[in-house]
Amino acid sequence: MARVYNFSAGPSTLPVPVLEIAKNEMLDYKGSGQSVMEMSHRSKVFDEIIKDAERLMRELYNIPDNYKVLFLQGGASAQFSAIPLNFMNGSGKADYIITGQWAKKAYQEAQKYGDVKAVASSADKTFSYIPETKAEDFREDADYVYICLNNTIYGTIYKELPPVGDKVLIADISSCALSEPLDISKFGMVYFGAQKNVAPAGLVVAIIREDLLGNARDICPTMMNYKVQADADSLYNTPPCWPIYICKLVLEWIKEAFGGLEGLKDHNEKKAKMLYDFLDNSEMFRGTVVPEYRSLMNVPFVTDSEELNAKFIKEATEAGFVNLKGHRSVGGMRASIYNAMPIEGVEALVAFMKKFEEENK
Ligand SMILES: *Cc1c(COP(=O)(O)O)cnc(C)c1O
Repeated sequence: MARVYNFSAGPSTLPVPVLEIAKNEMLDYKGSGQSVMEMSHRSKVFDEIIKDAERLMRELYNIPDNYKVLFLQGGASAQFSAIPLNFMNGSGKADYIITGQWAKKAYQEAQKYGDVKAVASSADKTFSYIPETKAEDFREDADYVYICLNNTIYGTIYKELPPVGDKVLIADISSCALSEPLDISKFGMVYFGAQKNVAPAGLVVAIIREDLLGNARDICPTMMNYKVQADADSLYNTPPCWPIYICKLVLEWIKEAFGGLEGLKDHNEKKAKMLYDFLDNSEMFRGTVVPEYRSLMNVPFVTDSEELNAKFIKEATEAGFVNLKGHRSVGGMRASIYNAMPIEGVEALVAFMKKFEEENK
């Protein structure tokens, strides 16, 4: 069996030890005589899985007790509507920072529900940096401020949170979830589509401060009402059982392999440094992001020639480095080096890039 190094932005590579456990437990999950795909979501055996997933999430992220952890569906994109429907309930105003396509989509969706302002944007330079904001940029009566913490397509991340004071800060952390420690208490809500860094597609995890729940708009669909989901312990209807199970296994793997998010951060920093160091010294390849905003997870890069980009992607694919094509809105290349990408994968990629550069001088 030959596994490729998969640099996809999502769905993306999962830890091999997790896939092995899933394989071994496939036909008979812990003596239940069934796979997790087949069992009732109301069974005792599944109850343990979802409770373990929540417990591990709380432990790894050090989530304060006054936050709910919800396991939802609809992708990160469904939250673009759910967030205004649940939280745009005071002044009806919300402030968004536009750092890429995902933030922009969330902003556009929220406009259906109220007075939404783009307080800052980095669109002027193809989202290659995070715009600075000052406290006075945010409206005094905004119901919340919305950011996308790690910008998957452009490869930027906030190194410091915007100065929102005591306003409710909501963050999409889809592409940096569990990649390093995060102080959850700074946020009203964080959420992530699990298919980037945590599990297969189909699961969204939302971590929400309890006091914000219970004021959804009347028109909010029941399925999108976070209070309904919280009161039902994420079992209002059938949850995505299989992705929740894989999520639990991935959380166990993080604990076992890295001891926690500090250890995982070291691992991710090592990988990213290797790749950025190469890009900074290469005469053919260069990173596209302003260095101080570089993501640990998504690394876009280019050569100065479209032909070389295409040749590189083709030859890389043949050599077993797949999904390196950049997002269609940016072009060039992008290596997503999520938690599950081993150091050896990045080492091998850098060696391949060196060789390609030699051969194509
Ligand atoms: C992939 C991604 C999304 C969209 O996720 P879906 O689950 O496909 O809706 C949203 N935000 C960010 C930051 C992403 O990386």
